[in-house]
Amino acid sequence: MSPFQPSILEDLKNLLSPSQVFGSESVRNQHSHDESYHTPVLPDGVVYAESTADVVKLVQYANLHHIPLVPFGSGSGLEGQVVPVHGGISLDLTHMNRVLEVLPQDFLVRVQPGVTRTQLNEVLKPQGLFFPVDPGADASLGGMAATNASGTTTVRYGAMKDNVRSLQVVLANGSVIHTSSLASKSSSGYNLTPLFVGSEGTLGVFTELWLQVYGIPEATTAARAAFPDIESCVQAATDIIGAGISVVRMELVDAPFFPYLNAYKQTHYPEAPTLFLEFQGNAKSVQVDLEITQEIVQEGGCQAFEFYTTAEQRAQLWETRHNAAYAFKHAHVGFEHMSTDVCVPISKLPLAVTRAKQLLVQTGVIGAIVGHVGDGNFHVSMAVKPEDPEDMAKAYRFNEKLVYYALELNGTCTGEHGVGLGKRKYQAKEHGSALAVMQTIKQALDPSDLLNPGKLVDPED
Ligand SMILES: Cc1cc2nc3c(=O)[nH]c(=O)nc-3n(C[C@H](O)[C@H](O)[C@H](O)COP(=O)(O)OP(=O)(O)OC[C@H]3O[C@@H](n4cnc5c(N)ncnc54)[C@H](O)[C@@H]3O)c2cc1C
Repeated sequence: MSPFQPSILEDLKNLLSPSQVFGSESVRNQHSHDESYHTPVLPDGVVYAESTADVVKLVQYANLHHIPLVPFGSGSGLEGQVVPVHGGISLDLTHMNRVLEVLPQDFLVRVQPGVTRTQLNEVLKPQGLFFPVDPGADASLGGMAATNASGTTTVRYGAMKDNVRSLQVVLANGSVIHTSSLASKSSSGYNLTPLFVGSEGTLGVFTELWLQVYGIPEATTAARAAFPDIESCVQAATDIIGAGISVVRMELVDAPFFPYLNAYKQTHYPEAPTLFLEFQGNAKSVQVDLEITQEIVQEGGCQAFEFYTTAEQRAQLWETRHNAAYAFKHAHVGFEHMSTDVCVPISKLPLAVTRAKQLLVQTGVIGAIVGHVGDGNFHVSMAVKPEDPEDMAKAYRFNEKLVYYALELNGTCTGEHGVGLGKRKYQAKEHGSALAVMQTIKQALDPSDLLNPGKLVDPED
C-alpha cells in the first residue's frame, strides 16, 4: 500500500508547479491503464515532468516519502507495464517532447523521452534520414526504449536495444548518469545501455536518448504473397531469410485475420495465410531481391504474388497491417483484446505457429495470428471477456501453453511486448538462476523499490 497523503500533491505543486500536478479522477483514470486487458489501478496522483531537473526533484521527494513512481510514456503498452499496482505517482513524460539535436554526419539524434517515433521521423525526413524501429502504435521513444520495442523493420534494423546509443537516466537515488559515450563501439566498462533498455521503468527514468538513425534508401518495393496454408507460408519466410535476401519487413497475417481487415480497411485481400514484405536498397538490388523472393515463394506454393512500387500503394499495405489489432477489436464488440507474443529461433517458427493454431482450437479461444516472422516473433490476438472467469481461464491456459512451448524451443515468453503484469509469472521458468542476478541489480539500483514496483523481476504475489 502506498503511504499517500493528500498533502503530498500540495507539496509537489510547491516543488514543481501547480500546472504539472494532478489529483483529479479523470487524469488519474487516464494513467491507470495502458492498451492491455489488465485491470486498471488508479495512481494517487499524476505529475507531468517538463525537464530532467523536475524528474530529479520528484525522485528525491519520492525517496524521502517512500512513494512509488511509475514512468508513463504514451500508454500504448500491451502488458500493463504502466499500471501503478502499488499506487503512488504516475510520472508522465509526454511534455518532454523535443528533438534536441540531430548529428547527420554521425547518424545520431538526441531526443527527450516523450518524442514519438512519427514525430521524430517528420523532423528527420527533410535531412534524408529516418528512425526505423516501428511498433505500429505511435509510442514515445522513452517507452519504446523501456520495453525494448521492435516491430515490422526489426528483421533488418534490429530492436530498440540495437538503436539506442546512450541514455541519460535519473536513478532511484536522484543521481543522473549517461550510460555510454557516443562511440559506435566500446570495450570500456560494463555495458549499461542494454541493461536499462527493456527495464520497464524499474531501474531509472530516461530523460534523454541518443538514437541511431539511417539514410532513407534510394528504392523501396513492397510485396504480398498468399499461401494455401500456414506451414508453407512460414516455411517460405524462413527460406527467404536463409537465401540472404535483405528483406526490411516480413510480416505474417494468418487467414482468419483477413475478414476483419478487409471489413475494417475496405480492402479485398484473399483470405489466406499471407506474407507482407518490403525490400530496400538501390533500384538494382531491390529488383534482384524481388525476383529471387518471387522464385522462392512460388517454389513454396505461393498462390498470389503482387508487388507495390508507389509510396501510396506501400502506405496502404502497411497501414492495413498496422491496423490488424484494431480490426480484430472492431470485429469483437463486447470483448476485450488480449494480445500475447512469443519469439523463437527462426528455424522453429513453423513449429511454433502451427502449435499456436492447434492450441487455439483445443482451448476454444477466439484468436488469430499475426507476426514479425522475419525475426521469429508472432502475436496472437484474442477476444476475451475479463468479467467472465471461465473465459479468462481459457485464455490464460492458451497463453501458458504457448509460452511453455516457446521456452521448450529455446525461445522467449515475449519478443517485444514486454513482461509487465502478464509475463511476470514466466520469468523464473525462462531465466532460472539468472533471475536472482536481475533481482540483485534491481536491489542495488533501487533498494527502496520505488520505481515501478511489483513489475518485471518482482516475484508474483
Ligand atoms: C495496436 C498496437 C500494436 C503494437 N505493436 C507493437 C509491436 O509491433 N512491437 C512492440 O514492441 N510493441 C507493440 N505495441 C506495444 C507498445 O506500443 C510498446 O510496448 C511501446 O514501446 C510502449 O511505448 P509507450 O510510450 O506507449 O510506453 P508506455 O506504455 O507508456 O510504458 C511502457 C513502459 O515503459 C516505461 N517507461 C515509459 N517511459 C519511460 C521513461 N522515459 N523512462 C523509463 N521508463 C519509461 C513505463 O514505466 C512502462 O513500464 C503495440 C501496441 C498497440 C496498441
